[in-house]
Amino acid sequence: KLFNELQELKGNIRVYCRVRPFLPGQGASNTVVEHIGEHGELVVLNPTKPGKDGLRKFRFNKVYSPASTQAEVFSDIKPLVRSVLDGYNVCIFAYGQTGSGKTYTMTGPDGAREEEWGVNYRALNDLFKISQSRKSNIAYEVGVQMVEIYNEQVRDLLSGDSSQKRYPFLSALTWFSTSLSNFLLQFRSQQNGLAVPDASMYPVTSTSDVLELMNIGLDNRVVSSTALNERSSRSHSIVTVHVRGKDLKTGSALYGNLHLVDLAGSERVDRSEVTGDRLKEAQHINKSLSALGDVIFSLASKNSHVPYRNSKLTQLLQSSLGGRAKTLMFVQLNPDVISYSESMSTLKFAERVS
Ligand code: ADP
Ligand code: MG
Repeated sequence: KLFNELQELKGNIRVYCRVRPFLPGQGASNTVVEHIGEHGELVVLNPTKPGKDGLRKFRFNKVYSPASTQAEVFSDIKPLVRSVLDGYNVCIFAYGQTGSGKTYTMTGPDGAREEEWGVNYRALNDLFKISQSRKSNIAYEVGVQMVEIYNEQVRDLLSGDSSQKRYPFLSALTWFSTSLSNFLLQFRSQQNGLAVPDASMYPVTSTSDVLELMNIGLDNRVVSSTALNERSSRSHSIVTVHVRGKDLKTGSALYGNLHLVDLAGSERVDRSEVTGDRLKEAQHINKSLSALGDVIFSLASKNSHVPYRNSKLTQLLQSSLGGRAKTLMFVQLNPDVISYSESMSTLKFAERVS
């Protein structure tokens, strides 16, 4: 309720900043974060200007200190995630330079234990659990897609072709295919349409489906990242959860979806030092992140023209950005002084869209 009221004022966009802790082996003394307030204040100190002149204050909807847990973060966004069951479209992004904790927030660390699960696992699990328990007069179906956008090309991370060889369990999932094709047809006939019409979609009916689907998607991402040298930090990955509810009394249907987006690293690449593929990647990333910034900025400032067409990312998410849709951006910070200038450009991006 409160969220909806706040959002009426703010165009349905909120920005949460999360400062990651120093990792084992990193000294904790060299932080740029001077102060984190309880009401979304963040004060950053320029390491080359110690003293008052080097302080810069930002304000977001919320700021998480390095001590915040995955559970705390999720409990704050649970109402937003659950609004999908009421037919809302929701996008949750993680933005920041490589190493700032985007994947930690969205997915969790490698081989995460349940308490370390990120937003993806928790959201998917929560949605399918309530979809089964809530109001008995509504029957819900939950389906998942996972894609990656690399150099403006979309790749299906759950495609049968690439996964089936390594994951015989996928054929067990295609056991669902009859109900799946119904599911897909019904979705296509919805006004919202599918975000990624050609990407595989799998129904989720248990926590183990959630885990297995997430792991297939992650593995498919990792395979290409070793082959192409850390490609995962240079692609956007999008987990889309589709929810369809049918009112058993009236027969009316509602449809909502949740996009969980782990964005490519926002770091500026020195143009004088990179060439060829690396330069091309950097240009694609710059273009798509600034297109995203422009879209969110136009929505926040209620411009009549919203430039969705400028990148694959904003095109794919068009039906879930703007209108009644809700957007949450996690702005990730590495507090190390070494990252000061990247952190400042991350914060400026965040300030513009908030
Ligand atoms: P990114 O996806 O932005 O490149 P990662 O999520 O991979 O960054 O984070 C970089 C490293 O920091 C990883 O080892 C990750 O496990 C760790 N890390 C990030 N955020 C946290 C956090 N809140 N708590 C503990 N470790 C974290
Ligand atoms: Mg990452």
